[in-house]
Amino acid sequence: MQTSPAPDAGADKNSSSSGGEIRLRGLPVSPGIAIGTVYLLVHETGPVERRKLKPSEVDKEKRRFLKAVETARKEIRDLRQHVASALGEEGAGIFDAHEMLLSDPAVVEATTRGIERELLNADHVFARIMQEHEKQLLSADSDVFQQRAVDIRDIKRRVLRHLRGDRRNALARLPKDAILVTRELTPSDTASLEKGQVLGFATDLGGKTSHAAIMARALGVPAVVGLHYVSAVAQPGDTIIVDGLHGEVVVRPTEKTLQEFRRRQKRYAALGTSLRKLRTLPARTLDGKDVELSANIELPDEIENLGRCGAHGIGLYRTEYLYLAKEQLPSEEELYQEFRRVVEAVAPYGVILRTLDIGGDKRPPTIEFPEENNPFLGLRGVRFCLERPDIFRTQLRAILRAGVHGPIKILLPMISSLTEVRQCRQFLREVDEELTRERIPHVSEMELGIMIEVPAAALSTDLLARECDFLSIGTNDLVQYALAVDRGNEHIAHLYQPFAPAILRLIKQTIDLGHRAGIWVGMCGEMAGDPLASLLLLGMGLDEFSVSPIVLPEIKHIIRSVRFEEAEQVARWAWAMEMATAEEVEDFLREVMTKRFPELMV
Ligand code: PEP
Ligand code: MG
Repeated sequence: MQTSPAPDAGADKNSSSSGGEIRLRGLPVSPGIAIGTVYLLVHETGPVERRKLKPSEVDKEKRRFLKAVETARKEIRDLRQHVASALGEEGAGIFDAHEMLLSDPAVVEATTRGIERELLNADHVFARIMQEHEKQLLSADSDVFQQRAVDIRDIKRRVLRHLRGDRRNALARLPKDAILVTRELTPSDTASLEKGQVLGFATDLGGKTSHAAIMARALGVPAVVGLHYVSAVAQPGDTIIVDGLHGEVVVRPTEKTLQEFRRRQKRYAALGTSLRKLRTLPARTLDGKDVELSANIELPDEIENLGRCGAHGIGLYRTEYLYLAKEQLPSEEELYQEFRRVVEAVAPYGVILRTLDIGGDKRPPTIEFPEENNPFLGLRGVRFCLERPDIFRTQLRAILRAGVHGPIKILLPMISSLTEVRQCRQFLREVDEELTRERIPHVSEMELGIMIEVPAAALSTDLLARECDFLSIGTNDLVQYALAVDRGNEHIAHLYQPFAPAILRLIKQTIDLGHRAGIWVGMCGEMAGDPLASLLLLGMGLDEFSVSPIVLPEIKHIIRSVRFEEAEQVARWAWAMEMATAEEVEDFLREVMTKRFPELMV
């Protein structure tokens, strides 16, 4: 069973070093144990743009530069602190030199002066100054100076990254048994990854529902995120263990440690084999209550594995991958062919196809976004689609056309008001009329559901439910927005609590109000795939669980092993005991699950 991270997995308690091996603690976000070789992904910054400024732009440009320097400095200080507590002062000393360089007038003031005098952008001036320093050091015949040149390059990259935030995809050349180690993995980094290309992930940043975590589950590989500085201590080619069940990572393990993890790896594989035997059986409780158990799909080649994990259809098909890491926007024909392939592959079961949910941290290079201070509160999901009717219409046309080949339902992300639902319905009507006029085969009517992932939607479920055919609770965002905790920020990962009473109330209310309006309520957020939550959600009356294929057999096993009454009792107890904190709820559920399902504890 995948256990939730200890809430106090704080920076200074999360590492130890013995016999040459380094053990780090982070958040387990995708189950399993991987043993492989470090592939260190360093984010290159690409060619540096040279742009002439108007005199009126100079002040803003200087501020942008100083902000990037400050952020880089802060990052270095954090790194230093973490490395010092794990490896001692000696290992951390290098970061002092980095920080000093970023306070050096020959770097900082020289850049701001350059911006002002030459009327050139910060990236260009800064990169040029750093290159000059680097050249001088490289020309000296001394190891010390050569090492210093490496530091200069590192700092240059760090600041440029903060100035521009872009990155190149270097994942095409992964070796066979690679474990990807990096500071942060974004959707664009991983969009081109394919199944079997990588054995696991270990990252410095990220939370349980960051897209990197979701991607690891989609690829079916173990992952631990929020390790703070694994990318600073692991070297390319090192052996590394990623334990995605308990959130542990071991760099350069001793032989004894390797043997211990190999034994656990075998035990986990045996559990998987026995759970896979449930493949063809329904998700039915011992007393005969059926729930829908479907899969979340993030990548095209996951479709082939659906049958193997025993999913009955797709409960969340994230369409973003068709837009990310592409040179150009997908055409209607490409989208239609892809949607058709998916519905045909899943038949006789259906597909719940979510319309484009970009914005936030998913920003395809082909689409221009405005600068936003809070992208997760900005032009994201349905808001983006309503702003860009050209992109939205193309997708809706492809969906209605693909509907000819099998059952599709449409799911709208980031809905916060009924007005948005009505606007989307209007788009659908218009697109239907267009296709009819053009005599293109399509279906005119499709069930339309909405994600409940914005607290406003959860609080007005009764109003929204009147004009929708179903609801799907998106806990990944609901938790982030309701608790005001960034889902990808490892510094506050302990505050990201799906079991917080506020969240449980929102979920319960959504289920009850949806049922009262006569529609079914599902959940496609990661909480639906957390075994710890299964009995509680079942007992609250959830009709559908849409989960990552990697955890689906475990959830089916739980559902099939209990009576519905038993689950209702767990939900009632959780209520009756008036548990006031997420920790209390989690402790209670862990006790129940450990007693009831000891076989899932690996
Ligand atoms: C969610 O927010 O719970 C969800 C399923 O959507 P995503 O993770 O794609 O934002
Ligand atoms: Mg979401």
